[in-house]
Amino acid sequence: MSTRELLSLYLFILHFLYNDAVFAKSGACRKLSLLDLVIKDECPSVFILHSFKSWKFNRRQVLARSFPLDPIVQNYVRQVHDSLFSVTYPMPLKSQTYLVSYSKSVLVDILDLSDDVVKSAEFVNFVSGAKVSPGSIPLSHRYGGHQFGYWSGQLGDGRAVMLGEYTNQQGETWELQLKGSGRTPYSRRGDGRAVLRSSVREFLCSEAMFHLGIPTSRAAALVVSDDPVIRDQFYDGNPKPERGAIVLRLAPSWFRIGSLEILAKNNEIQLLRQLLNFVIEKYFPHIDKTDQDKYLALYSTIVSETAELIAKWQSVGFTHGVCNTDNFSLLSLTIDYGPFGFMEEYNPNFVPNTSDDEGRYSYENQPGIGVFNLEKLGEALKPVLRHHQTEQIQHILNGYERNYKEKFMELFRQKLGLSTDNEDDENIVAVFLKIMEDTKSDFTMSFRELGEIDLMGLNSDTIPHKYWALTTMADHEWFWKWIAIYKTRLTQEGTSEKTRQSLMNKTNPRYILRNWMAQEAIQRANRNDFSGVIELLRVLEHPMEWNAEAEEAGYSSLPPEWSKSLRVSCSS
Ligand code: AMP
Ligand code: MG
Repeated sequence: MSTRELLSLYLFILHFLYNDAVFAKSGACRKLSLLDLVIKDECPSVFILHSFKSWKFNRRQVLARSFPLDPIVQNYVRQVHDSLFSVTYPMPLKSQTYLVSYSKSVLVDILDLSDDVVKSAEFVNFVSGAKVSPGSIPLSHRYGGHQFGYWSGQLGDGRAVMLGEYTNQQGETWELQLKGSGRTPYSRRGDGRAVLRSSVREFLCSEAMFHLGIPTSRAAALVVSDDPVIRDQFYDGNPKPERGAIVLRLAPSWFRIGSLEILAKNNEIQLLRQLLNFVIEKYFPHIDKTDQDKYLALYSTIVSETAELIAKWQSVGFTHGVCNTDNFSLLSLTIDYGPFGFMEEYNPNFVPNTSDDEGRYSYENQPGIGVFNLEKLGEALKPVLRHHQTEQIQHILNGYERNYKEKFMELFRQKLGLSTDNEDDENIVAVFLKIMEDTKSDFTMSFRELGEIDLMGLNSDTIPHKYWALTTMADHEWFWKWIAIYKTRLTQEGTSEKTRQSLMNKTNPRYILRNWMAQEAIQRANRNDFSGVIELLRVLEHPMEWNAEAEEAGYSSLPPEWSKSLRVSCSS
């Protein structure tokens, strides 16, 4: 070992000693064998654990210790009052479990684990909920929510349990949750399970979104079993057994708008205030906790961060599918992946969820739904605000539109390779989208190909065949006029062709998770061939980089005809 590596090892041990000093308050110590440590190749100052046996949650589980817990410990469906969490143990799957896939990036960069651990039974038992770490207090969270515009009362983690909190070497704290791990007090009429198809989609999409640079929960691993889970996939009276699966997912916090709403609706004001103070102190340290207007400051931050998140969704054509207030994170992360979809042919009315008959959560409605959800957040804050502060809520919310538009234009300028602002840019973007809409061109590939094509050489009306999305756009009578305006704009800006292409190809993905791609991987996974999921993850981890395997699979080609009839419902 070099001196530098020895020094790093020393620092690493200090990190754990420090944590142990913190954890010592709760009575025990984190034990770590030096043999379990390996040095990360690329960065000698960071260490990773080689064996899952040595990996431990934080001793002190802050959530469990900070809030009153539901006094009932039996696991049956009920209305819970005056508590945020119920202690709920995962229900292990009965049949053999198989590890379908894992995210190396989550293991190494978040959990300080080498991916060697996936080979161990301990890891698979952990991910499948078969063994809960000693000392862990698994929790299901009580929350409410507005679903499709209406207050639904108590919802809560009906099939998820938070296993514990982990503070990594970077000092980031993550909450680890199993989804699909069985009934909880919040399961209502559900079975607490998740099926393979929805779990593959959540696993792949969380990681895909992260690598697209969009705030999101993460997914560490996915296991599947042979346990039958009955689902009527299209609600057409055809229930069938499917395979039960579990995703280990992570977020810095799983609190949602609905976490606050249920407390306000049930008049649990002291707990509401306590949760707000906790959220401010833990996740929004820039807000002064002694400030009389701290709740307004929190609201204002969530309003602008939600606006930015939705602008980011729009910039990649991501449509969440179920933008209920219980699925909107207080940290403005994308959470609870269900019947989401990436828009393929540009269509503002795109609705991925076949159960959403009225198209409430269509692509173009998402920014407006953000306002609705934030209005509900404002209502949940009212019980802790003074009269003059309540009046400020609407004023703050009025700022949403400006935040959204600014972020949207910033992102779409980047998508067009523009590096300065110009008042005509809104038109340039709008006309490009209108041409795409009229010609039903592919949203992702139209932007991507525009960044790949040699624009300056493009002065005839023939476009090389491989630019299939632009070729479709070129059928529109405005296309060449638009190209001329765009070229003039670039010349005025002084942007070189090389800079334009490089900016656009860093911004516009070549590979997104199209439904048909997920579908193929799911069909194979159902037959115990997990290679499709693994390959897709590998591609989606580098969405901007040309990849021979992905090209071969047709991921950047005109989507196959059969993909147009694919449907995704809420059933999961
Ligand atoms: P979602 O639309 O997936 O965000 O779910 C809305 C609510 O239904 C949440 O409280 C979920 O925990 C609950 N839920 C969804 N599926 C199930 C299930 N299979 N079993 C129990 N609860 C469920
Ligand atoms: Mg949800």
